[in-house]
Amino acid sequence: MSLPIASLSLDLDNKWAYLRAAGREDWESRPGYLPMAVNRITEMLGELNLPLTVFTVGRDLVEEEDCQAIQSFDRLPRWEPANHSLNHLPWMHTMDEAEIADEIEITDARIREVTGRRPLGFRGPGFSCPDEVLRVLAKNNYAYDASIFPTSIAPIARAVFLMKTDLKGQAKENAKKLYGGFASLRQPNHPFQRNIGDQQLWEMPVTVMPLTRTPIHFSYFTFLASFSTLAAKAYFRSALSLCKLTGTSPSLLLHPPDFLGQEDDSDMAYFPGMKMARQDKLSIVRWGLKLYSETFDVRCMIDALRLIDPDVDPDLANLPTNTPIKQPATC
Ligand SMILES: [Zn+2]
Repeated sequence: MSLPIASLSLDLDNKWAYLRAAGREDWESRPGYLPMAVNRITEMLGELNLPLTVFTVGRDLVEEEDCQAIQSFDRLPRWEPANHSLNHLPWMHTMDEAEIADEIEITDARIREVTGRRPLGFRGPGFSCPDEVLRVLAKNNYAYDASIFPTSIAPIARAVFLMKTDLKGQAKENAKKLYGGFASLRQPNHPFQRNIGDQQLWEMPVTVMPLTRTPIHFSYFTFLASFSTLAAKAYFRSALSLCKLTGTSPSLLLHPPDFLGQEDDSDMAYFPGMKMARQDKLSIVRWGLKLYSETFDVRCMIDALRLIDPDVDPDLANLPTNTPIKQPATC
């Protein structure tokens, strides 16, 4: 019997973006960890034969070693480059349409240059998804936006974030809409189509637990595991079962810190789950990814979307693939 379809993505947030979000001034020298993080990610996903959609930040498509790291996703059986804005500013809702167009279009051009492929998906930093962003995406013929995180704990996550950072003044005001505000809870927990003028754009939310709407993506899973591995595993297992039971096709999300331990970066110690030892972190993430790949037929996001809407992707042949694309019986 064929497995139900799911998708897997990575927000390739770099160290400087985390430091800036924490209000640390040393972010300006743009410290990064991409070569180390990407190496670990491709090693583990390659071992598990998993595909990946990579939401990439335009600022990280400049330095030679970062570009090479991003190109090394070619080691995976299949991957899809996608757009995660130019500057990773989580307050796109405060920008005008020209600034938003720059954030999206400059990154789009850099992704094409570095990977040789056209991005078809976008995720806003901090899960911010104003109408102006959707209009720019439709104008640029994007197939989908993935900026919705319909969780019940958005207000709590935002409060914890604000408590732990040194942000002041306007930056703090802007951060109050992080994670999509209260409206995110009313959003669907499954893909849906939006009409933007005379164009259509798919919305691919980050899946949350059906019914309770608590987060189930990997960064939350590793955060829970930093308190109790057993409890985290039980939670993740029941999340996948509940997705299957309710017919929810999950779209789960990874971040680079899911592959880093406390030995790797003491500057990141404030980040949830970053007090875990490297081996413990890698072992729990490998367990979760393996279970995901055994429970679902995991695709990159554009491939999962194409099964819902076969007309969506004229450029699919442009994606690199080392293995034939499996033709699913169901979606
Ligand atoms: Zn991000």
